[in-house]
Amino acid sequence: MHLARFNPVRFAHLPTPLEPLPRLTAALAVSPGGGPELWVKRDDCTGLAGGGNKTRKLEYLLGDAFANDADTLITQGAVQSNHVRQTAAAAAMFGLACEVILEQRTGSNAHDYNHSGNVLLDELLGAKIRSVPGGTDMNQALAEAAAEVAARGGRPYVIPGGGSNVIGALGYVECALELVNQANEAGLEIDRIVTATGSAGTHAGLVAGLAVMGADIPVLGIGVRAPKEVQEANVFKLAVETADLLGHKDRVTRDLVVADCDYVGEGYGLVDQAVIEALKLCARTDGLLLDPVYTGKAMKGLIALSALGRFDGETVVFLHTGGAQGLFGYQSVMEGHL
Ligand SMILES: *Cc1c(COP(=O)(O)O)cnc(C)c1O
Repeated sequence: MHLARFNPVRFAHLPTPLEPLPRLTAALAVSPGGGPELWVKRDDCTGLAGGGNKTRKLEYLLGDAFANDADTLITQGAVQSNHVRQTAAAAAMFGLACEVILEQRTGSNAHDYNHSGNVLLDELLGAKIRSVPGGTDMNQALAEAAAEVAARGGRPYVIPGGGSNVIGALGYVECALELVNQANEAGLEIDRIVTATGSAGTHAGLVAGLAVMGADIPVLGIGVRAPKEVQEANVFKLAVETADLLGHKDRVTRDLVVADCDYVGEGYGLVDQAVIEALKLCARTDGLLLDPVYTGKAMKGLIALSALGRFDGETVVFLHTGGAQGLFGYQSVMEGHL
């Protein structure tokens, strides 16, 4: 697959490691069928100010920003957005200005949620932050911010929430390629990839990359916000567009897109005890730090589905999409539950 023609800017620490999780595997071997053998793809280690999955997307998005001669990155996310933090870091790294719009999506008034974790890092990285109420039309807010920057003579580049458009998704096409190469070198036969799925770019990029490559590895996305029909439709649309950009639109079929959205709990960014148990289990078995919003919820789903025997006998790669920097925004929520 020829990705260099999209001119990504290189700053991610790649390839990220692919590591076995022997103790977590043993902990999940409670199903009568023995459960899965678990591995982790460490995209929490992409290097950009704490790293995470937005870094790979930003390599392609910054390439496009430079092609458009931008001097200001504009993006949006929830208050504890990891995407916003990584965008702010990428901007700093290349001397670009960065304006971010944070949506009060969870409605939390907690001090740590609104000021610590990713927010503290956004400020440290020099992003100009504006806050808007939950339910704001964020695409409209992005357009307004871009118009303001342009009106004062700046050259804005708008990155959608989560960096999830076709350009950003190319980062996860590249991840699919990287993972399959690692598996081939290690002689590891992967039966399934499990990832959190939110703004859809990660899931769509993986599906498109694997399909265009002909790798035939199923991907299970565990939803963190939208219901299944909406999530799968979003991922499918973006996966088709991404494969189209690569010249192989027809290879992404609807059946390749599978999301399980039964583990969202009370809603986006809201933590329940099963999420905390998933965070504890990964930390205490293999020293792995997950996050409360995405990977903790995905692992909550993976644990529950393992117990149901859904992955029995499979080699499952959990894509660790990062986010542990957000943990500090959830201190007051988790205190007393650890
Ligand atoms: C954004 C994010 C995700 C979800 O990725 P999408 O491409 O938005 O679906 C998963 N995990 C973490 C830690 C994230 O920050």
